[in-house]
Amino acid sequence: MSDHGSHALQPWLKRVAITWVNHAGASLVKVVPRRHLDTAADLGVGFSPVADAFRVDGCIAAAHRCARPDEDLRLHAVAEALVPLEPDRGWAWAPGERRWRDGRAYEADQRSFCRLQQDRLQQQGLTLQAGFELEWMVLSAEGGAPGSPAFPGGPYGADRLVEGLDYASEICDALDAAGLDWLQFHPEYGASQFELSLAHGSAVEAADRLVLARLVIQRVSRRLGLRCSFTPKLTTDQVGNGGHVHFSLLRHGQPVLQGGDGPGGVSPEGAALIAGVLHHLPALLPIACPLSASYARLAPSSWSAPYQVWGIENREAALRLVPTSLDQVPAHLELKVADLGANPYLLLGALQVLALAALSDVVPLPAPVRGDPARADGSTAAHARLPQSLAEGRAALASSAVLSAAMGELLHGSVLDSIDAEIERCAGWPAEQVIASTRWWPLVGDLS
Ligand code: GLU
Ligand code: MG
Repeated sequence: MSDHGSHALQPWLKRVAITWVNHAGASLVKVVPRRHLDTAADLGVGFSPVADAFRVDGCIAAAHRCARPDEDLRLHAVAEALVPLEPDRGWAWAPGERRWRDGRAYEADQRSFCRLQQDRLQQQGLTLQAGFELEWMVLSAEGGAPGSPAFPGGPYGADRLVEGLDYASEICDALDAAGLDWLQFHPEYGASQFELSLAHGSAVEAADRLVLARLVIQRVSRRLGLRCSFTPKLTTDQVGNGGHVHFSLLRHGQPVLQGGDGPGGVSPEGAALIAGVLHHLPALLPIACPLSASYARLAPSSWSAPYQVWGIENREAALRLVPTSLDQVPAHLELKVADLGANPYLLLGALQVLALAALSDVVPLPAPVRGDPARADGSTAAHARLPQSLAEGRAALASSAVLSAAMGELLHGSVLDSIDAEIERCAGWPAEQVIASTRWWPLVGDLS
């Protein structure tokens, strides 16, 4: 019998949406009624392996190794992670993990991968704590693509908050009803752009929260006759949406990034963590930024952090160190470059792999960068850009011995197949067409 979370036996619960996130970054779902929850948790519900061959436009990529009609997997509801989705309508949500029919773990399952890396760190006395920061744009649903901004008002503007106060109230109420712990909500820099910071937890918890938060935001937006977009780039002339990851590493409960005399007060182990993750960052990029449109976001001087540099409180650095201060919050890093096209389980699974590699195979820490790395002053060498296309990032991931060993052949190979499908989908397209094709991400379909 499954170990149900505290919500599973609540009287309001009528049905459960069980989701997992495929290689293309889309949340896929099966719904079961309450009376079949035990079965869905213990035996799972059927799901064809082909779903990892779906491209971001929903078509099956013919050349993908998962594009075949045979075999079946079972999607097991993780009942202890069950939470309300829209409780006043009887809806609950639970993440799922896919296994083979005989109960063996499915080697390409993204959440299992993330959980396994969590276990691997644990064996070394280490824990990665993470929390996502999501940005999205809210648009009118009428009038064709790209839709007009739903709420006027300036960046961080209280004017925009008040213009959109009904929307903001509904979003916050729905997050609270879902039991999602959030830290901050604000109008962001872009037109009708908002941001939400989620509380941190284990890597798997952080990824689960991101999945649920997106569902809640999409639901509220639609209920109010609006549309939201989490796309990395909505139009060529506007800033994009990031999906930044805040993370810290603890050894036996103690934060490793602080308490030393390195830059920003980093300890030697903290320095090794920053240096190693930075070193491997090109290979992580096609997982953190997996859409063709991701690379339209990664322009210099737009706070999307496309250089392979770190900095202390530098918002143009791919890795931003936030040192501990009066608030006693442990020092942590922000992976600034990531966007919401990423599968959060793959991203945090891979990040944990890199954290472990960073501590066991130490590389020297370069100096932190001050100011905008795009504006090197001539006295120093120009800073290295991270991959500038999905194809460049793909090459780095394909040749990463660290990631291929930890992911295993099926996961590593099938993720590369999905990246190939995305590269091929947009081959030869001008930037406008690439951006338009995922304008409503993760909503599939042409809404124009
Ligand atoms: N919108 C920016 C991005 O594309 C991030 C702005 C910020 O929060 O610093 O990631
Ligand atoms: Mg932001």
